[in-house]
Amino acid sequence: MMPRVTHNLPDDVLLAYSAGQLSLAFDLVVASHVSLSDDSRARLEAFDAVGGMILDEVEPIALGDDSFAATMALIQGAAPEDCATTPPRPKGVFPDPLRQMVGGDLDSVAWRPIGMGARQAILHSDKGGSVRLLYIPTGVAMPTHSHHGNEMTLVLQGAYRDEFDEFHRGDVELADQDLDHTPVAFGDEDCICLAATDDRLKFSSLLPRLAQPFLRI
Ligand code: ZN
Repeated sequence: MMPRVTHNLPDDVLLAYSAGQLSLAFDLVVASHVSLSDDSRARLEAFDAVGGMILDEVEPIALGDDSFAATMALIQGAAPEDCATTPPRPKGVFPDPLRQMVGGDLDSVAWRPIGMGARQAILHSDKGGSVRLLYIPTGVAMPTHSHHGNEMTLVLQGAYRDEFDEFHRGDVELADQDLDHTPVAFGDEDCICLAATDDRLKFSSLLPRLAQPFLRI
């Protein structure tokens, strides 16, 4: 039995994903999270159903008096969690969308060292943002940083905590300009995360700042 995911994506992010408004970097994190979280998947399926219905309504047809009731029935009908289709549980560490992007599981990743035993692999980068895998040995802290833009981090293995909360497999953390944090990996396993960013991180100490252009972070 998989532990329940406790940090899910908010509705506005799932709606943007459903409407195809996210860049590839964030798309990959959302798709990977959704295949690990029953809660986010159920809400996404409801949004997908509503989105499909709105597209149907674009046809110039006269709306009957019962169209509002029908719309609400559709939304409510699409929402129950037990109606959500459950994708097959991944055998390895990576959920399906990530496995497809990487072309395999952990052993297919071309890691590059980033110091203190941590490693990263940049999977994709374009104007809309970049997405990378991060491998952080348990007990190791990432340099304290803030953010110039948005950061979306999904835990795939192990766990990390920052000043505010802790995150386990399937959990996702959203960070922006207002959040300053020092993520630390903890627990029995080394921590592996999938992280999307749409701008550079803001490091408070000199060494990470110097390394920043080389790490493209
Ligand atoms: Zn951060």
